[in-house]
Amino acid sequence: MPENVNLLPNFIHNIIDEDLKDGKYADGIHTRFPPEPNGYLHIGHAKSICINFGTAQKYKGLCNLRFDDTNPTKEDIEYVDSIQEDVKWLGFSWDDRMFYASNYFDKLYDFAVELIKRGKAYVCDLNAEQIKEYRGTLTEPGIKSPYRDRSVEENIDLFGRMKNGEFADGAKVLRAKINMASPNITMRDPIIYRISHTPHHRTGEKWCIYPMYDFAHPLSDAIEGITHSICTLEFEEHRPLYNWLLESLGFDINSRPKQIEFARLNLTNTVMSKRKLRQLVEGNYVSGWDDPRMPTISGFRRRGYTAASIRDFCEQIGVAKSNSLVDIAMLEHCVREDLNKKANRVMAVLHPLKVVITNFPADKREDLLAENRPDSDGTRYVPFTREIYIEQADFMENAPKKFFRLKPEGEVRLKYAYIIKCNEVIKDTDGNVVELHCTYDPESKRGGATASRKIKGTLHWVSVKESLPVEVRLYDYLLKADADNQKDFITALNPNSLTVLSECRIEPSVAWVSQGTKYQFLREGYFCVDKDSRKEHLVFNRVVGLRDSWAKAKRK
Ligand code: ATP
Ligand code: MG
Repeated sequence: MPENVNLLPNFIHNIIDEDLKDGKYADGIHTRFPPEPNGYLHIGHAKSICINFGTAQKYKGLCNLRFDDTNPTKEDIEYVDSIQEDVKWLGFSWDDRMFYASNYFDKLYDFAVELIKRGKAYVCDLNAEQIKEYRGTLTEPGIKSPYRDRSVEENIDLFGRMKNGEFADGAKVLRAKINMASPNITMRDPIIYRISHTPHHRTGEKWCIYPMYDFAHPLSDAIEGITHSICTLEFEEHRPLYNWLLESLGFDINSRPKQIEFARLNLTNTVMSKRKLRQLVEGNYVSGWDDPRMPTISGFRRRGYTAASIRDFCEQIGVAKSNSLVDIAMLEHCVREDLNKKANRVMAVLHPLKVVITNFPADKREDLLAENRPDSDGTRYVPFTREIYIEQADFMENAPKKFFRLKPEGEVRLKYAYIIKCNEVIKDTDGNVVELHCTYDPESKRGGATASRKIKGTLHWVSVKESLPVEVRLYDYLLKADADNQKDFITALNPNSLTVLSECRIEPSVAWVSQGTKYQFLREGYFCVDKDSRKEHLVFNRVVGLRDSWAKAKRK
């Protein structure tokens, strides 16, 4: 289990501490992460994963993975697989405790029958529209269903026939008999079972009635011996129902699960709900759930974010009771901090401009020593030749005074190499600069007589002959602004969220890199080998640039 989770105190710890002080949950703390397998996990889920697994870890307890698969129409095995992969990748383990709510369909059915026997549930023939109408509003109480007072025997008979497939979808539902006048609309005889003649990806055609989430969830928690059922704030109004069900079925208050709500994570410049993410995938606005622009865990992984940085982010944002919007720059900050420690430095030129070093022999190649990281002893050699590339933006013909990169008659230092001077600017017929002719100072490399000459600018570069072609994909935010709450977020999509640079060059040391390897390209940012990358065609994603707007804002 990772070490950087749940170190900061939060209100959930306080609740658990109180419970333990009161002598509750003597058998240990037990949490669960309960995704619905109807999409890939996103960074909001990462927060929930860190809280649930992290809380269990803090109290030396256990955390289950439970697929909340009570809705057969939207679920898919692809999602079940991806969810497991993502939780593992984040660094957490459920050991042998992976469960499905559908494992409990028999038990849940028995619980429903028990509720009927206790006079606390009834079969209702009202249709969906009528149920909604009878439910009342925030200011008006609801109206009792005409079927509310059916006898226990009749209810048991009808519920059994619902199960046996005698009725069409929607013809009947099972409802909890609570209080149609409750100020909490959730408590106005909520539906707990519905008919759906849809095969389920795990139970096949065995069931044609399915439990509602609000019924299945507390009881699945109870079946698994969960002590603290941590969920997001929108379930706050459902907590009385959660407790009512456990109470009505006779679970002991000192050991039964307790629901605790926290604020969900919202991030700027992106969407977070699976429904919207699916819309992006199905509408081909992105290349898939793991498109590097997606806020999914698989998207971030492919882009080059590390598990440690996502965990760190989840720790930094804290656990609160009120909803807020987190600046995506904070997540990027965490990624940068982590990669700064871990990523080796290499040189790549994204927009090449050819430089000919006229006093360097054409057939000569000099291998120059370069350190991989400021804090490590690792080194490599970078080949220097007569023709090199620098960035187009590192040369300016009519440069302002403060431009310390290359200009006519100006000098710059080439990283790990020599000082060069620009003598001639070659242009095409349209007047574009296509080549520079420079001379180098042979004594200016490390250890040379003129190595300490004062030169303001240092540029990265690669050898024309020895460098490798590479495709680089630059990403910008998916959404132009905070349009997540806009009705039609599709109109707020950033049309420039992907830029493909196909003419880039990189130093040859990376020839054998494998997918997921991360580097800092000097002066350009952090980059990660994409899954599309092949030996013959290297592809890198820009993970994040070097400028840290979050750290800057914090210092202010
Ligand atoms: P979405 O609305 O994105 O589809 P969901 O809540 O329906 O999310 P589930 O698969 O039901 O997704 O969620 C599994 C767990 O993750 C739940 O406990 C849920 O509360 C939590 N969760 C989902 N989104 C967030 C979020 N943005 N921040 C924190 N926790 C979240
Ligand atoms: Mg959901």
